[in-house]
Amino acid sequence: MSRARFGFFQDDYFRGRMVSNYDVAVIGSGPGGYVAAIRAGQLGLKTAIIEKESLGGVCLNWGCIPSKALLKNAEILSYIDRAEEFGLSFDNFHADYSVAISRSRKVVDLNTKGVDFLLKKNKVDQFQGTGKLAGPGKVEVAPDGTIIEAKNIILATGSRPRSIPPLPIDGDRVITSRESIVLADLPSSIVIVGGGAIGVEFAYIYRMYGVEVTVVELLPRLVPNEDEDISAQLERSFRKHGINVLTGAGVTGVETKSDGVTVTVEQDGAAQSLECDKVLVAIGVQPNVEGLGLEELSIATDKTGIVVDEVFSTNVPGVYAIGDAAGGPQFTHVAGYHAGVIIRSILLGLPSKARTDHIPRATYTDPEMAQVGLTEAEAREIHGAKLQVVRAEYSGNDRAVATGQTPGLIKVMVVRGRPVGASIVGAQAGELIQTWALAIANHLKMSAIAAMVAPYPTLGEINKRAAGAYFSPKLFENAWVKRIVRVVQRL
Ligand code: FAD
Repeated sequence: MSRARFGFFQDDYFRGRMVSNYDVAVIGSGPGGYVAAIRAGQLGLKTAIIEKESLGGVCLNWGCIPSKALLKNAEILSYIDRAEEFGLSFDNFHADYSVAISRSRKVVDLNTKGVDFLLKKNKVDQFQGTGKLAGPGKVEVAPDGTIIEAKNIILATGSRPRSIPPLPIDGDRVITSRESIVLADLPSSIVIVGGGAIGVEFAYIYRMYGVEVTVVELLPRLVPNEDEDISAQLERSFRKHGINVLTGAGVTGVETKSDGVTVTVEQDGAAQSLECDKVLVAIGVQPNVEGLGLEELSIATDKTGIVVDEVFSTNVPGVYAIGDAAGGPQFTHVAGYHAGVIIRSILLGLPSKARTDHIPRATYTDPEMAQVGLTEAEAREIHGAKLQVVRAEYSGNDRAVATGQTPGLIKVMVVRGRPVGASIVGAQAGELIQTWALAIANHLKMSAIAAMVAPYPTLGEINKRAAGAYFSPKLFENAWVKRIVRVVQRL
């Protein structure tokens, strides 16, 4: 059989047959699965990938990519809100949300086609259908019953939005990010349950299009996993944008009517009712572990997903799990990183461990937020008095001032001259954090960042300034430096 036959979803040749001799079979084609399959193909491993929906998984179809396309529109509208400051005025300004949605779907299309191209280029055989473990080294693809035999099986089945009993999802009035991302008719008002990354990104998008938005967060602050200063700045910005924020508030029930929804919220022991057009439930995700044949092979799971060790092996030899399905931080770059580590291990026959301390994350609201390593609170708990925290404000950065991109803040957590964490809130935070991700990954000293020459004027200079701030006070506390300064002052 010629290789040219391969590369199409569920090639007729394979239908209902047993296909053998794969080095790697990957179930799920999200950023965990497609990165693993492409990498394996590039390195010469005979590879199959099984997908039941669309290539690219949640990230490319329903998550990161379409949401970032919509967030670009929100950013443009936030500038238009400040039109007067830039000397701009409009007559009959109109923002058509349905165009934003159709643009985001085109972007999705481009990205998923890119994945298809790379799978084909790297000779990965694609199977359309639902994959299920069918015994050691075997995957069955439903509905047509093709059996794939592979030495190594990677489960990359991802996750789906979580729901809880007081918030039954009906896909119409009470929706998740999955419906929201393709909703072309703007709701007049929306209650977003959950003030984490997904909730706040949608809050920003909808508010910039004039929707009445209320965010209800159970914990005492928005983006509760982020640094306290950062969530405080987001909350200030949200209130300025006119987003209603209820923190320390739990939703106790929803009542769906023909013309809207009544959401009951309890805050500080008092109940209140919020009337809205739609409710977006954004309270996290749950791993896709059902129907995978895990029980039959006694593969362990817990509430976070498939249980894996530090080299992504399940308790059954030759079966691995990565990405959202395997718990851990649920981000695309984490799934992709896991994929790279695992393929290297399979190829070399030497298990290699993944690190977690250098993994960054970002949330793309106004302001943007990013984190790598430890937050201040985490670093204080671990390192106590050894911790030094240095800060630099965007207001001290010439580019930020020139482009009207203040306020913003960077905090770097330093232990014995090396960064152990960085938190950024402000324009391009997701880009700026990469310097600190690199520094932490390579155990660089603060002096390496301080000595870097950054082009002027750039936002990136904030990183250099924060690194410089580490030295200024410390240097002048040194007894010898104090003496030299006194001598120089006397001259
Ligand atoms: P997934 O992307 O979930 O892919 C799993 C794939 O497996 C799916 O295609 C599914 O159909 C398939 N599958 C499942 N079971 C089977 C089966 N039995 N047989 C065959 N196929 C199967 N992360 C970021 O890093 N940055 C962001 O900006 C970001 N924004 C997001 C915005 C939203 C609205 C959402 C919902 C998520 C966002 N994420 C973001 C998270 C990111 O999408 C996930 O972390 C990432 O997609 C996980 O990749 P994965 O490969 O583990 O799984």
